[in-house]
Amino acid sequence: MNNTYLISLQSKLPNVGTTIFSQMSKLAQDCNAINLSQGFPDFECHPELIEGVMKYMQQGANQYCHTAGLPALREQIALKTARDHGISIDAETEITVHSGASEAIFNIIAAVVKVQDEVLIFEPAYDLYRPVAELFGAKVVPVSLKKEDFSIDWDKARSAITSQTRLIIINTPHNPSGTTLKAEDLQQLSDLVENTDILVIGDEVYEHIIFDNQAHQSVLRYPELRERSFAVFSFGKTFHVTGWRVGYCIAPTHLTSELRKVHQYNTFSTFTPAQYALADFLQKEAHYQALPDFYQARRDALRKWLADTPFKLLPCEGTYFQTVYYGHLSQEHDVDYAQRLTREVGVATIPFSPFYTQKEDNKHLRFCFAKKYETMEQAVALLIKHGDKLRQP
Ligand code: GLN
Repeated sequence: MNNTYLISLQSKLPNVGTTIFSQMSKLAQDCNAINLSQGFPDFECHPELIEGVMKYMQQGANQYCHTAGLPALREQIALKTARDHGISIDAETEITVHSGASEAIFNIIAAVVKVQDEVLIFEPAYDLYRPVAELFGAKVVPVSLKKEDFSIDWDKARSAITSQTRLIIINTPHNPSGTTLKAEDLQQLSDLVENTDILVIGDEVYEHIIFDNQAHQSVLRYPELRERSFAVFSFGKTFHVTGWRVGYCIAPTHLTSELRKVHQYNTFSTFTPAQYALADFLQKEAHYQALPDFYQARRDALRKWLADTPFKLLPCEGTYFQTVYYGHLSQEHDVDYAQRLTREVGVATIPFSPFYTQKEDNKHLRFCFAKKYETMEQAVALLIKHGDKLRQP
């Protein structure tokens, strides 16, 4: 271009860059490192899912779907929810299929938040909540999780509530820390919002990746929460197809109708062939019921191998992420440390500081174990081989 005039644009998200997930995955690729950073499986989904998508494409299911999602899929989601949580959901008016859980969360925030409303999040928080809330003019109120175990300090949460609080976002099992909320936490949240107009997002995309025989504590199970919550789920996580971008939201009818107003103008509808394939596959409960064991075995293997490195392992109760502490090895900033390990050791991880408003650096790294055993074994072998690189005062 010869014209050097630069059109001025005041950024609506001046503090946002490329996500840490994209950054670390790119760096891993550039350095030919083993990528245990961005959360996605390096193994295949069930072949029936792929056959299903191909079959339905060949049969001509290639046009727009119902904006709320394929009725047969919503029907299966309602049945699944009844099986899992013993509650009845109206497939017609309470379920909306989205192009990924991220789209659902974006649309929910867009639908309910007004300028100056306050949105309470718990930090470290998944990185999309803050920018999206800010895009719609909300004020984000971060409440830190407890330093020692990433649990919620409910007194702190209570004191962060004001007359402006519109929305509270919880995430269990929790990304990035791998902790879970317990029944007492959901009870505390119920008490906190009782007799208010506060809405809740339950980001529950790792609902089936939960360990040691815990029951997933969905907002749907608590009547006080159910009536004011948008519960968000992800087929990408449950069926090893993060790239398909299919998730869904369950919310009471009057909340769902507001959500659908946004969804219809965002993506309108979600990839049709995948919805048909998922509707068939959801009838096989066995897959997702085996998921806790499937991932618990990977968690245990990674923990066993990592025990031979100098990292300190934090507990992992759910998600496919293992957190480690490295503050006794190096005082480097976590982003620098993660980048250096990618370059010098050949293993990419996710540092925690991007998940805090104040970019707090507590020397935590997240390892993804949605990987083949050999991938994880090779990664740990590199960490052991280059042990000297982990220590850098
Ligand atoms: N949820 C994934 C993770 O935590 C990242 C998804 C993405 O990159 N958008 O690693």
